[in-house]
Amino acid sequence: MRQRFGIGYDSHRFGAERPLVLGGVKIENETGLLGHSDGDAVAHAVIDALLGAAAMGDIGQLFPDTDERWKDANSMQLLREVKRRLTAASYTIVNVDVTVVTERPRLAPHIPAMRENLARALGIPLHAVSVKAKTNEQMDSVGEGKGLQVFAVASLGGA
Ligand code: MG
Repeated sequence: MRQRFGIGYDSHRFGAERPLVLGGVKIENETGLLGHSDGDAVAHAVIDALLGAAAMGDIGQLFPDTDERWKDANSMQLLREVKRRLTAASYTIVNVDVTVVTERPRLAPHIPAMRENLARALGIPLHAVSVKAKTNEQMDSVGEGKGLQVFAVASLGGA
C-alpha cells in the first residue's frame, strides 16, 4: 500500500450571530464563526488535508463560496462528499490529526464528540481520529480572540 499525506489549514473570524460549530459539534459561545458555509473550520481543514493527500485540489475549488448551493452549508456534509470522492478514486483514509488554536471557548469537553463526528463522516475508527486544542498564549490576533485557526494532517492509502 502506498501511503500519502496531506496538510490542511483554515481560519475564521468570530463575529457571526449563529452557533459556533466545530467538527459538527454545536458549542456554547457568545459568537459563531463568520463564513459562507456554517464556518466549521475543523471540517474545512480536514477536507483540505484529505484533498491535499489525494492531490485533488482544495475546498474552494470543490465548493466555491460564490455558489449559492454552499451558503450556510453543513460542512460535515461537504466532508462526507469528499470521502465519497476519495472512495471513488480508490483511496482509503488511514488517519487524521487536527489541532485547533483558539483562546475561547475551552474545547476540551467537546473533543470526544468532534472525534466521533469526524470518524462517522469519514467511515474510520475513532482511534484513527485525533483532535487537539491549544490557545495561542494571548499572542497575535488569534490570541486576542479575533478568530480561530485549525491545522490538520491526513494520511491516505491506496491508488
Ligand atoms: Mg473555512
